[in-house]
This record gives sequence, structure tokens and C-alpha cells, in this order.
Amino acid sequence: MNMHGLVGFKNDTCFEEKHNCARGWAYTTIKHMCLMLDVKGRDAAVKEQRRTWATRVIQYFDGELPRLRLLIFLDETDVPTLKRSSDYRGFFHPIDKYHFNITLWPRVLAEALRTINQPAFESTYHYDALVYLPDSTCQAEASLTMTLAHELQHFIQYGFNRTVWAWNSIPTNLEQTTRASLRLQWQDIPVECEARIVAKRASQAILGHERTDEYIAFKTNEHVTDSDAADWEFIRGIDTSQPYDCTVKTRDLFQRLVPFRNELGQILDTAKGLPEFASLNLDDILQA
Ligand SMILES: [Zn+2]
Repeated sequence: MNMHGLVGFKNDTCFEEKHNCARGWAYTTIKHMCLMLDVKGRDAAVKEQRRTWATRVIQYFDGELPRLRLLIFLDETDVPTLKRSSDYRGFFHPIDKYHFNITLWPRVLAEALRTINQPAFESTYHYDALVYLPDSTCQAEASLTMTLAHELQHFIQYGFNRTVWAWNSIPTNLEQTTRASLRLQWQDIPVECEARIVAKRASQAILGHERTDEYIAFKTNEHVTDSDAADWEFIRGIDTSQPYDCTVKTRDLFQRLVPFRNELGQILDTAKGLPEFASLNLDDILQA
């Protein structure tokens, strides 16, 4: 994987100096990282266990993460309003004045992510991005490891390959009937495919091949939904030794989407309120 050489996000500066250390920036032992790991819970032993598991994943990515301010939030509950689908296990979310307001945050997260400056009615945002894992994902090491690695790969995509990251979120908003006619699955979305490859590779490195295969088999047999079972079957078949070029695969995907140009245009128009989408032009990506 060589994300750093791809279409780049130029503002790759370390915010470390600007951080207010009183907020408890973590991981001074991991060089140049600008992230906070916040583990919630009342049981000290459980919290420590989860912190240890998460730290192993963060260390696996050492040197690969963008120098943006990231909050990794391991929750002690499953917040219903954050549940995006029946098979969801966590998410990555950019944080700024545009992205923050897309989601209805529980109070504990809203307060962690930003401070409202009275009486100016402006807010200070303490992070550039959030990785959130609900309690149910954090209960087992294999689940936490693979999910956190998956979401950290989205953070890497957002940090170093933001245009491609943005393009990838357009087809996921196609109408259900359009996605069905294209037989579009999660693994057809290149940033999602890459996150699955990297998550499996990380799990193999941290937990070993045997435990990784056991977890994938468990998730397949669990059969939360048909599409989730198919997704795990896809993950089972991934050869993590093979390279994957997210930029090339994104262009390939959009070639399949040429007949749906009007629908793509409507989705893009709606998304243009967000900074990553403002300069996107369909002609650039639909060209052969
Ligand atoms: Zn994903």
C-alpha cells in the first residue's frame, strides 16, 4: 500500500505543537501522532483491556496516519441514533463546521468534539476527524481490531487521497433501484474494498492468520443480513498480499456509472455544501 504517493492532501502539517496538552493528548510514545484515544466504561479492567487492543492497532499504523487531529472514541454503549445499519460496527467521520452538523451527536461526543463559544455562537472544533466504535464492537479483540483498522484506513484515505475519498461517497447515495440494477455491493466501492483489505491484513499481523480466519468465519455464519454474510464471504476470499490501487479502481467504477450521469449529478449538487465536493466535476471522473 502506498497511499502517500497518491493525489495528495497538501496541508499535511503536524498539529502537535498547537494542541492544548491539558486536554490530555495521548500517545506521546508514538512519534508525531496527533490522536486521542478515549475509552469509555465504568469497569477499569475492561477499559484497560480495550485500550491495549486499540493501541496495538494504532501502533500497526504508526507512520502511516495523516497528521490530522483524530479522536478515537470507544463507547460504553451502542447509541441508537448513531446506528447506520443493522450490520454496522463503527464509522469514520470528518469533523468541521460543515460535517459536524450532518449527524445528531450524543451529548458526550458533541462536547468532546467541539466547544460553543458564547456569546459569538461560533464553535471551536477540537478534532479534524472521529473514529467511533460502539460497545458491541469493542467487546472482542478480533472485532475491535478489524473494525478499528478498517476505520483508520478511511482516515488515511481522507488525509492523503481526499478527492478519491469524496468521489467514492457519491455512488453509495444512488437510488436503491439503481444500485440493485448495477448489483453494487460494498466491496465494489474502492475505498470500502481497500479498507476491507487493510483491515484483514492488520488483523493477520496483530492476531495471526488463524484467529483472523476464525473471526471471519464466525461473522459469515452469524448471518446478520444476507448482504453482510456476502460481505464477510468476500473478505474471506481477499488475498492481502495483492496490491490495490484505489485511484485506478475508482475511475473503473465510474465507467460503469456513465449511464447514470444525471442521478450522479444530482447527488453531487447536494453534496457541494461540503468542502471536499465543491470542486468535483463529473467530466473529470467519467472520462474514459
Ligand atoms: Zn468503511
